[in-house]
Amino acid sequence: MEEKVIIFSAPSGSGKSTVVNHLLKHFDFFELSISATSRAPRGTEQDGVEYYFITPEDFRSRIAADAFVEYEEVYQDRFYGTLKSEVQRIWDCGHVILFDVDVKGGVNLKRYFGDKALSVFIQAPSVEELRRRLIGRNTDSPEAIEERVQKAAEEMTYAPKFDRVLINDDLELCLAEAEDIVHSFTGR
Ligand code: ADP
Ligand code: 5GP
Repeated sequence: MEEKVIIFSAPSGSGKSTVVNHLLKHFDFFELSISATSRAPRGTEQDGVEYYFITPEDFRSRIAADAFVEYEEVYQDRFYGTLKSEVQRIWDCGHVILFDVDVKGGVNLKRYFGDKALSVFIQAPSVEELRRRLIGRNTDSPEAIEERVQKAAEEMTYAPKFDRVLINDDLELCLAEAEDIVHSFTGR
């Protein structure tokens, strides 16, 4: 089985969760990559489900051992990253890895995986529509929405760095197009 990776990135509110959840239901060969982090588990979070929870010392020694595809120290001692062992675990199952990451992470992962990866940028039809969707989703305060919209405008400039841009205007069309993109890249 060929080793493949599909990366989905989008400014917040563009519909990335909607598209990724649809694809996970539609294709049984997809598996979401679980990141490692040095932050403590919250609430009902479990090791090996939301994240692999490891200590900052362990995280550092794995960095020294070149065990990560990519990682970031968000602030002192708070690390997040994708382990090479996680990538291999998913490929060993014969599955295609699905990454759901921010636009900078998407560009970095594409650079690492090269031709094994297809990177897809999901784009709302306009910034105004993106704002309407965030308001409609009803999960963020007005201040948080404005912050996300500001950030989205900057993130949109990353679109040309991706292999494909998927416009999410009419949702049914967008999901059908996402299925086509997956079919043609994986042959499955
Ligand atoms: P993201 O994960 O990119 O932040 P979501 O998938 O949560 O975005 O979508 C943001 C909101 O927009 C959700 O309430 C979702 O139901 C809605 N939405 C997604 N796609 C469309 C679409 N094509 N038309 C209208 N609303 C949409
Ligand atoms: P949380 O709320 O779970 O503490 O943190 C989520 C943040 O960590 C998000 O900004 C997300 O993009 C980032 N993150 C999660 N996993 C990874 C990863 O594997 N690599 C990088 N660079 N960031 C990650």
